[in-house]
Amino acid sequence: MTTEKTERTYIMLKPDALKRGLIGEIIARIEKKGYKIKKIKTLELDEAILKEHYAHIAARPFFPSLLQYMTSGPVVAMIVEGPDAVLGMRILMGATKFEEALPGTIRGDYAFCTTENLIHGSDSPENAEIEIARFFGE
Ligand code: UDP
Ligand code: MG
Repeated sequence: MTTEKTERTYIMLKPDALKRGLIGEIIARIEKKGYKIKKIKTLELDEAILKEHYAHIAARPFFPSLLQYMTSGPVVAMIVEGPDAVLGMRILMGATKFEEALPGTIRGDYAFCTTENLIHGSDSPENAEIEIARFFGE
């Protein structure tokens, strides 16, 4: 099959990935899959950018604890590129709910909580470009 589209997606390793020393392991999985890390940087997020990034869930009861978690330490922001990278990274990450994330996925293997779930990945090519602009200014 050669129908795959080369796509870019926004990936973010969340504060628990850094605190637990899992960034090398997670980046290795992304590279072994065959995706390219086009840009990478660490940064600390403030509430303003998180309210924008998580606008779709701002009214949910868990939002205050999500903000607290996401501001508890630095994150690693990446632009990841490859064939169907948006969906492919979502599959590599595993389901949002930790109890639904299958073994073999990043969340399935390492996350034991739905809020602290190690990794963010864009959910559509359109949102990927919006998130790349938000976090990389391009
Ligand atoms: N989240 C949570 N509880 C929930 C759903 C989501 O704490 O019931 C957190 C979790 O960290 C998740 C983030 O909010 O990764 C964004 O939620 P979304 O539904 O966009 O999930 P994702 O795209 O990260 O899988
Ligand atoms: Mg999402």
